Amino acid sequence: MKNDNCIFCKIANGEIPSRTVYEDDSFRVILDNGPATKGHALVLPKDHYADLFEIPEDVAAAAIVTAKKAAALLKEKLHADGLNIVQNNGEAAGQTVPHFHIHIIPRYVDDGQLIGWKPGSPSAEELDGVLDEIRG
Ligand code: AMP
Ligand code: ZN
Repeated sequence: MKNDNCIFCKIANGEIPSRTVYEDDSFRVILDNGPATKGHALVLPKDHYADLFEIPEDVAAAAIVTAKKAAALLKEKLHADGLNIVQNNGEAAGQTVPHFHIHIIPRYVDDGQLIGWKPGSPSAEELDGVLDEIRG
């Protein structure tokens, strides 16, 4: 199912041109137009799901397999030294386009990019409290 107001639906289904590095019946993988590094690509399902919480399990499984294929292609062709997979859900997590997508970010020694987080330093009790909250 497509969403008429969604730019990634239009790109994934070829209504808006994109720099496509891979395509099959269910997915299009495009170059990000604001890349973190050379070859930064996005895996877009052709059907519309806002995020990880909406996407069905079988489509999510196929999406990560597609990401793996595209990652191998990018790593080989662009001689990347490493690679990050990033997948944002919700504005609080940095999602700016509400159509599920997986970022594939090739990494190069000394590429100067910052993709990560500031590590916390909780006490053992705090971690146990979180575990209790999650496990009930
Ligand atoms: P996110 O912040 O996880 O929602 O990622 C959205 C990504 O889509 C960003 O990295 C943007 O640079 C990228 N983006 C937005 N519009 C386009 C577009 N028309 N073509 C290619 N990439 C896009
Ligand atoms: Zn969409």
